[in-house]
Formats: sequence, structure tokens, C-alpha cells
Amino acid sequence: MSTRHTRYNKEIDVLHEISYLLGRAKSNSDMYRIAVEQSIKNLNIDRIAIFLITGPDSVQGTYGTDIEGNVVDESWFTSTIEEHVFASKMIQERTFISFQHHTSLLHNFANVGMGWNGYVTLWDGNEAIGWIACDNLLTSLPLKPSQVNILKMLGFIVSQSIVRRKYQGQLIAANNELEIKNRELKYLTSKLEQLVFIDPLTQIANRRALKRYLDDIYKDEISRHLSLSILMLDIDNFKSINDKLGHLEGDQCLQSVARHLQQTVTESNFIFARYGGEEFTLAFVGISKEKLTQIAEEILRDIRTLKISHPHSQLENMLTVSIGGVIVSSIEGSNYIELIQTADRALYRAKSQGKDQAIIESYSKEQCA
Ligand code: GH3
Ligand code: MG
Ligand code: MG
Repeated sequence: MSTRHTRYNKEIDVLHEISYLLGRAKSNSDMYRIAVEQSIKNLNIDRIAIFLITGPDSVQGTYGTDIEGNVVDESWFTSTIEEHVFASKMIQERTFISFQHHTSLLHNFANVGMGWNGYVTLWDGNEAIGWIACDNLLTSLPLKPSQVNILKMLGFIVSQSIVRRKYQGQLIAANNELEIKNRELKYLTSKLEQLVFIDPLTQIANRRALKRYLDDIYKDEISRHLSLSILMLDIDNFKSINDKLGHLEGDQCLQSVARHLQQTVTESNFIFARYGGEEFTLAFVGISKEKLTQIAEEILRDIRTLKISHPHSQLENMLTVSIGGVIVSSIEGSNYIELIQTADRALYRAKSQGKDQAIIESYSKEQCA
């Protein structure tokens, strides 16, 4: 293989390396610096500078080489495109690469010597995005035919890197925007969820949430063979709180009862909901009848110890509640509407037997057949 051929192959390898390095650049500015640094170090180009088109008639510097061959940040440089007569003509005529021989070599528009200079225009499809300028100011060596091809390929690599970074940036921005929109959507969904499933007065689950919980339990394969218990709880003589102390006092009383029961009942799989008015519902999965009775008795006791004053109570002017409950040993084959009706009947019995008490019933499937 001839020496010329070997050198050309080496330059192709260098271009490969440059392309790899540009792909890994941390920022746009880093990318331009690497392109310039690599070109003067490994492609034997004396001076090189990359210019970017920033508007219909404006161009900005990136990195370049000073008159001693040092790599310098030239991002401060701005001018009109027209001022770069040769480059602007190339863009108009859609020329990709062109050279001027025996010409004045410029640095920041000042004449610094004589030699050849070359321009490679950079494109994003049909749109000109900038150019690369280079010359032989330092060595005055003649332009080699291989350099023409190498510069053409360098122009292609640099413009590809610029375009890729530009679209990557746009993609990241679009993704970020999507992420923000997603977060907003999640927030709005959770707010909506609150409005739909939370009781505004007591801030506990509402009847709709209870229905969703029970529907889910009935759909769940694992829960199907477990027991389901429902307690219906109703504040005793609540109407007289409203009548004697006012509606606001009544509202506060509902809030205290709800808050207290939320802290009292700590089973792992249950829901506590406001069924409506002064009635609350608790539903438990997988507990025994003994446990259910114990929970109901604890609630009665806890409400008594709260000592909420009540103008018309059967217990020393203290607020009390009545509870009707039901338990079915296996969810499968049962129907929660009938369970609620059974608990409601038990509650009615607790009321008619003197209030401030709990009555729990077992539910058999034959009962509803
Ligand atoms: P019992 O012991 O038999 O349950 O008698 P009660 O007075 O508790 O029952 P009743 O059904 O006669 O009265 C319930 C009252 O609850 C009537 C209604 O005005 C009141 N109520 C329903 N919702 C609210 C509410 O959100 N706030 C207030 N302050 N009162 C409510
Ligand atoms: Mg009631
Ligand atoms: Mg009541």
C-alpha cells in the first residue's frame, strides 16, 4: 500500500475518532472545541474555526484557532453573514466546499498573511446552519487533494453532530414538558379523586368510595375466600344536637366522631366511610366474628369516653352511637347490598332495644336465596 494511501486511511480513522468524540461531548460548546482541537492536532490543518448561523443575516463564532495556532473560544464573535463574502456566496449557491488560493488570510477581519483558505458549509437538510473556515497560515503548505475530501467529511460529521444535538435537545425539552404535564395530570387526578371519593365535611371516604372498595373486594381472587364484615354505625339522637345546639355544632360533632374512629380502628384491610347523614360504615376483610364484636364494643366504649356533650342522651348527657353488624364467612357467593341491608336491620334492632349498643348477625347464603 502506498504511503499516501496509508496516510489517507489514517485520516479516515481520525475522522471516525472525531465523530465518536463529538457524539460524547458534554455540551455544544465542548463539541465545537473538540472538533477544532482534533482537526489541528490530528488532521494537520493549520487553523480552523466553526461559525454558526443564528438568524437570517447573523453569524456567531464557536471555537477557532488564533494566529499562533492555539485553540480559542470565539463564541464572543458575531457579525452579519454578508460580511463573510465568500461563505455567504457559497451558501447562496449551495456550494458545500470551496477554496481560494493565493489569497489574504484574515483573523477577525484583519489581514494576517497570504495562502489558501477553505470553507465547508454546514447544512440541516436544505437549511444552512453554519460553516467551517480553515487555512494554511502557520505552515504555508500547499493544499493536498486528500485534505479536500477529509474536510468535506469533517463538515458532514460536524453538521450531523450539530443537528443530532439540536433534535436531542428538542426531544429532551418535549419530554420535560410531557413530564410536567404528567405531574399536573396526576395532581389534578388526585384532586378529582378527593372530590369524588372523599366526604367534604369529615374528610373520610364517602359512600362512593365504600362502593368502589366493596366492588374491588368482590373482584379480587385472593379475597374471595375470606370473610367480609360490615358495621353500620348511627349517632344516637343526633337530631336533637342540631335542634338544641345548632347545625354547626352538629357538623363539629360529626367531624369529631369521624376523626376519632379513624384513629381508633387500626385493622389492616378495612374501609371507614361516611354512609350519609350521621351514619358511618366500616367494612373489614378476613376477620372473625369475635374480632368484629370486639371492634364494635371498643367503638361504643371509645365514643362514650370521648364525652361529647349531648342535650338529649340516654347516658349522662354524653353522645353515644348504635351499631348493627353482619359477617359472612366467605365473600364468594354473597352480595354486599344484602349484607348492608342485614347490618341495617341489626342497627334498627339496636336502636329499638335502647341504643348505645351493638348487635352483630351472621349472614348465611340460604338467607338470601
Ligand atoms: P336515632 O337515635 O334514632 O338515630 O335518632 P337521630 O336523631 O339520630 O336520627 P334522625 O334520622 O331523626 O336524625 C338525623 C339527623 O341528622 C337529621 C339531619 O338533619 C341530621 N343531619 C344529616 N346530615 C347532617 C349534616 O351533614 N350535618 C348536620 N349538622 N346534621 C345532619
Ligand atoms: Mg340515622
Ligand atoms: Mg341517628
